[in-house]
Amino acid sequence: MKIKIVTFLFTVAACSSFAQSAKTKASPNKTATIQSVEKHQQELTKLSDEIWAYAETALKEHKSSKALADYAEAQGFTVKRGVAGMPTAFTAEFGSGKPVIGIMGEFDALPGISQKAMPTKEALVPNGGGHGCGHNLFGAGSLGAAVAIKELMQQGKLKGTIRFYGTPAEESVGGKIYMAREGLFNDVDVCLDWHPDVENNANMQSSQAMVDFIVEFKGKAAHAAADPRNGRSAVDGMEAFLHGVNMLREHVRPSVRMHYAIMKGGDVPNVVPEYAKVWMWVRDSKRTGVEDVFARVKEIAKGAGEIAGVESKVTIQTGDYELLVNKKGAETLQKNMETLGPIIYTPEEIAFAKKIQEVQGGEQTGLDGKIHPLKATEQHPQGGSTDVGDISWIVPEITVLVTTAPANTAWHGWSVVACGGMSIGHKGMLFAAKSLAMTMVDLFENPQLRTDIRKEFDERKAGHVYKSYLPDGPPPLPMEK
Ligand SMILES: [Zn+2]
Repeated sequence: MKIKIVTFLFTVAACSSFAQSAKTKASPNKTATIQSVEKHQQELTKLSDEIWAYAETALKEHKSSKALADYAEAQGFTVKRGVAGMPTAFTAEFGSGKPVIGIMGEFDALPGISQKAMPTKEALVPNGGGHGCGHNLFGAGSLGAAVAIKELMQQGKLKGTIRFYGTPAEESVGGKIYMAREGLFNDVDVCLDWHPDVENNANMQSSQAMVDFIVEFKGKAAHAAADPRNGRSAVDGMEAFLHGVNMLREHVRPSVRMHYAIMKGGDVPNVVPEYAKVWMWVRDSKRTGVEDVFARVKEIAKGAGEIAGVESKVTIQTGDYELLVNKKGAETLQKNMETLGPIIYTPEEIAFAKKIQEVQGGEQTGLDGKIHPLKATEQHPQGGSTDVGDISWIVPEITVLVTTAPANTAWHGWSVVACGGMSIGHKGMLFAAKSLAMTMVDLFENPQLRTDIRKEFDERKAGHVYKSYLPDGPPPLPMEK
């Protein structure tokens, strides 16, 4: 997730007095899914560790995507690679007919945060990427859940279609949005996913809607001392624009976030710069709020161009909808999480987590393996956007958040990379796989549940017709050597 939602709850470490008795409480099919995940535990862990070590960033996840797709194929899934114009996007399907249950897996890393699986900061590859959002676990865990369902289908115990989505580039352009544009989610009854976190939750929180765009200014170069009167500075236009944006901050709702990076702002002082470029995001709790602010930002760009006597241009790159929560789905998931029981950690794992907290100056609370009760949806989500938001407007979406790292440390940082490459992360991944597989058993077995989930989805959508922010044209694939 782009700037991950991190819930800074100060909780005690997992208590070993909780008993893990899922196998005695779960139905036969759910028990079979738990056993399946345990049977494949080593393979899934290996897959996750492999992707962790590759640490490939958005749309360059060739080895990571291949590892997941190859595993799915070896498990008997029909795999379509390179879908939606992205070489690293794929689908893996098993079974036929309705219902169609989808499950998504991400696998992109973040640049510059390479880290060894150790509790103090030390890069595995200097300046390399790292899984600071735990997407190595995300992809492998979701695929493990899909495999568990496939095995029940092979035994004739479930009917329908299970489809795994290998979704690249969550951290940049939002691969899922391009996959959605191709209609790849249109026939899905319910879709699931999970995300690494600092506590276990059946997610009831939305995420921020956002629009990601470039603002460019084109002026006229001139000698900065000899004839500046003949020049028109693109940087003047950019400065006027950013000044306008920063004045606008006073006049937006508190839930709005605007942030930018200057990508190009002249080369040398003694040339009037003819080109300037800003990369900017506007976020709010709802897409409608983003649109209001974005309309004003576009006016500011126009005005700034006029002030400086330069051309201005705004180009949308991508954007996310806010996540549409589905309470019925979350309640179903919650029951399965409670059946599974908390994640139990060893003293070594708790010490590992506390060491990270100590190094980062956070309270040394260890790890939170508890199953938290279902929470009420907050009016305004905490900071963060995800392309899962877009999918949640196309198909009802259920998300489980699972502990893979300690609280009180920086997300998208080295500590999350460290935990994602060792047993703390692995335990979270296996818990996610089990809880998702059990919830899919409910969805396959219970048509009334699917109807209820769809009814809530339609009510929350209130007739809105989904339309992504994506510009026309293919995904912006990176230049690669
Ligand atoms: Zn993420």
